[in-house]
Amino acid sequence: MADNRVAIVTGAARGIGAATARRLAEDGFAVAVIDLDEKQCADTVSAIESGGGRALAVGADVSDAAQVQAAVDRVASELGAPTVLVNNAGVIRDNLLYKMSEDDWDTVLNVHLRGSFLMARAVQKYMVEAGWGRIVNLSSTSALGNRGQANYSTAKAGLQGFTKTLAIELGRFGVTVNAVAPGFIATDMTRATAERIGVDFEEFAKAAAATIPVARVGQPEDIANAVSFFVDERSGFVSGQVLYVAGGPKA
Ligand code: NAP
Repeated sequence: MADNRVAIVTGAARGIGAATARRLAEDGFAVAVIDLDEKQCADTVSAIESGGGRALAVGADVSDAAQVQAAVDRVASELGAPTVLVNNAGVIRDNLLYKMSEDDWDTVLNVHLRGSFLMARAVQKYMVEAGWGRIVNLSSTSALGNRGQANYSTAKAGLQGFTKTLAIELGRFGVTVNAVAPGFIATDMTRATAERIGVDFEEFAKAAAATIPVARVGQPEDIANAVSFFVDERSGFVSGQVLYVAGGPKA
């Protein structure tokens, strides 16, 4: 790998984003840890630094164009030109259609879709200049449909179309674009779902594991590993793909 390669991971203060940031640092990247609140990024940054890596905490709302541009400018000047982008920041606002507010819809679509669009648009310049780049978008098994998630499943399906189109547009510049679609992963997001429906998280996870062929729920590191594969130098002929990482077939 060329020296000084820089990766950006959004929503990297915790969960899948934090595990991905740590994994890309182990893979040799300097990592920009972006999340809503810069202070919340401290744990991820110190884990990377204590492993001998380089990291930078950046506070930004990925759905805000000015904040995205300022964050990417800061990464480029303080860490170096970013050539890897992992669009991981996400929120859920689950509700059945008849109870879903416009705000529930807009918030979810804005963070996942607008956020990934704004980040990719701001970072592609550095990838094109370098003649090399990797974009990985976080989709979900919910893209296939999930009760109570009309907003989220629409966003996650939308990200698959976004992935395929960017793969077509950016391929000639040495940039691959792929998506990882996780199933049930034990994070604060799935904890929040358990809380909303009023069940104990351990029971919730156990019930989910019973429906998963490998008989366990996923961990953030399972997803970080799939992201690492797409980012790898040797994965340059893999583009426009959606990899379901769900402990079994999901389609
Ligand atoms: P998580 O634990 O809730 O972490 C998401 C992170 O994104 C949080 O740190 C959150 O910050 C941050 N974030 C939210 N809105 C943001 C914004 N506008 N700008 C910047 N950062 C923002 O979620 P996770 O489970 O790790 O999920 C990571 C990704 O995987 C998401 O895209 C999610 O949809 C996807 N996914 C998760 C699962 C699962 O089972 N967990 C399954 C399929 C797909 P705050 O804490 O400040 O809100």
